[in-house]
Amino acid sequence: MPKVHSLTFNPFQENTYVLEGLGKSCFIIDPGCLEHHEEKELVNLIENNGLTPIAVVNTHFHLDHVFGINYCKKKWDIPLFGHELASFTLSFNEQAAKMYGFQGFTPVQSPDRLLAHGDQLDLDGEFLDIVHVPGHCKEHIAIIDRTENWVNAGDVLFNGSIGRTDLPGGDMATLENSIREELYTLPDHYVVYCGHGPATTIGAEKYSNPFVRAD
Ligand SMILES: [Zn+2]
Ligand SMILES: [Zn+2]
Repeated sequence: MPKVHSLTFNPFQENTYVLEGLGKSCFIIDPGCLEHHEEKELVNLIENNGLTPIAVVNTHFHLDHVFGINYCKKKWDIPLFGHELASFTLSFNEQAAKMYGFQGFTPVQSPDRLLAHGDQLDLDGEFLDIVHVPGHCKEHIAIIDRTENWVNAGDVLFNGSIGRTDLPGGDMATLENSIREELYTLPDHYVVYCGHGPATTIGAEKYSNPFVRAD
């Protein structure tokens, strides 16, 4: 039963998650650590819990979710997992870094393992489901733990909000469809871990989200 740890990093207040397996392996989800003290915070969390990272898994590849990828890959010598459409968003990262004034941004290479809708991630013998939820960007995936009843929805669905659709590859109708078909079909009590802000539940958003509500 994977345990979820969370940290908040960088000026975009991005949530980075560490999923701890029963055998103390872990996945690092969306490492957004940018400053040295943020990298140290992530290392401390992993070391203090006696965890062994086995891969970085990204829900998507917007700048605020990729700052720590190269650091993690090198530090633990682990691969990057991400959706097969990742390279489209990755190709805009340098431009975005310049626009926001981040000096010395090192581009992130395409994922070492490409994920597709319906794939599963093995964490110490327990399985997490991958679903494709485009609309905020082309390559966005959500990670579902059907044993512990939660979904990591990245920047697709937030507590009282939804992801923006004005960046390259974004599309409102596609986003709404992803939320309705892949998230609102989950049981109401499922916890939703978000890329920004506090967690919520499927039920809370389904019945009160001002942007996409259940029919
Ligand atoms: Zn995003
Ligand atoms: Zn984000």
